[in-house]
Amino acid sequence: MKAHSGEVGVFVRIRPTANFAQDLIQCLPDGQVTQPLDTRKSHVSSWSFQLEGVLRDVSQEEFYTRVCRWVVLGALDGYNGTVMCFGQTGAGKTYTMTGSTESYKQRGIIPRALQEVFQEVEIRTEHAFNVYLSYLEIYNETLVDLLSSLQGSPRPSPHGMLVMEEPGRGVFVRGLSLHPVHSEEEALNLLFEGEMNRIIGSHALNRNSSRSHCIFTVHIEARSRTLTNAKYVTSKLNLVDLAGSERLGKTGSEGQMLKEAVYINRSLSFLEQAILALGDHRREHVPFRQSKLTHALKDSLGGNCNTVLVANICGEAAQIEETLSTLRFAGRMKCVRTDPVVNEHTDPALTRTCETIHDSVNRLESTY
Ligand code: ADP
Ligand code: MG
Repeated sequence: MKAHSGEVGVFVRIRPTANFAQDLIQCLPDGQVTQPLDTRKSHVSSWSFQLEGVLRDVSQEEFYTRVCRWVVLGALDGYNGTVMCFGQTGAGKTYTMTGSTESYKQRGIIPRALQEVFQEVEIRTEHAFNVYLSYLEIYNETLVDLLSSLQGSPRPSPHGMLVMEEPGRGVFVRGLSLHPVHSEEEALNLLFEGEMNRIIGSHALNRNSSRSHCIFTVHIEARSRTLTNAKYVTSKLNLVDLAGSERLGKTGSEGQMLKEAVYINRSLSFLEQAILALGDHRREHVPFRQSKLTHALKDSLGGNCNTVLVANICGEAAQIEETLSTLRFAGRMKCVRTDPVVNEHTDPALTRTCETIHDSVNRLESTY
C-alpha cells in the first residue's frame, strides 16, 4: 500500500458487530468519526482524526496485503519494521495479529508474515538468509521469554532479562532466546509453542492473557552469495500485540486485576508520552526508559523503522469513549516521522577473504 515514505502508517480496523445496523460509530476513510444514534443526548457528535485508512469488513488476507505486506518485504531488504495493534480488550488486536485457529483463512498477520518471509527466501536466490525468532511478553513490568522452555510454563529467567543497548547492535533483550528457523512450518510451530506458553503461563498465574504486551520478532540476516561481497544486511520485524487500553476503574477492578490495570495504564501512558515526544520535532529527549515496553521498542517506533499502527476499535456506540481514546492515540502516532535505512554491515573476516581473492585474481591476471 505504501513504501518507505517517512511517516507511520496508521490504520483503523473496526471489529464487525452483531447489531450491524444499529448503535454504530461511523468512521469514514478520511478519519471523520460520527456517532449518529446518540439517543441520550439526541444529537450527532462528530470528531476528526488523521488516518491512513479505515478498514471494516475486510478479510484477513486483504488486511495483511493492504496494511502490512510492504513492511514484511522491507524487512527482507534490510529495513527494520514494526506493526503494532492498539485498542481496548475485545476490539480484535489478537485476531488481527495472530488470527483465529477456526479456519486457515482467518490466519492473522504473524503467520502470513512468516509465510511471506520463507516464500521470498526461496525466490531471492542471490542471497543466503538466516532467520531467527523471539517472542517476548511483558506482564506487570516483568519480561517473560515465551520460547524459553518449549514445553511447560514459561518463567521469567532466573538471571533476569534486561533491555539493553549497544552501539552497532541497537536495543536488544539480554537473556531472550533466539531460535533459528529454516522453514515456514518450523516457524509456525514456534509461534504455536509461544502462544501455548502465553496461555499456560497466564493460567498458572490466574490471569487473562490479554493483560500483557507481546512482541513477536523475526530477525533476518541476508548475505550475498557472491564471495566477493563482504557486506550483509540485518533487520528486525516486530509484530506487537499490546495489552487492552481500556481505562482504569471502568470495570471496578480490585486486587490482582487492579494491579494489572495500573501497570498497563502506566506503560501505555509512557508509550503515549514517547510517541508525543517523537512527534514533536523540537524535543530532543524522548523518554524511552520509563517502561520496559518503550525501552524494548526504542528503535522500533519512529526513526530507523517502517512502522504501522493498527488501531482496533469496536463499532458499538456504547464504546465511544474507548474508541475516541484509541483514535486519539492513533492520531498522535501519525505525527511520528520515520527514517528507515538499510542496516548494512561489513564482515571483517569476509573482508579479508575477499581481499585475498582480489589479490589472487590480480596476480593471476598479471601472470597471464
Ligand atoms: P483483543 O485481542 O483486542 O482483546 P480479540 O482479538 O481477542 O480482541 O477479539 C475478540 C473477539 O472478536 C474474538 O472472538 C475474535 O475472534 C473476534 N474478532 C475480532 N476481530 C474480528 C474480525 N475482524 N472478524 C471476525 N471476528 C473478529
Ligand atoms: Mg488479545
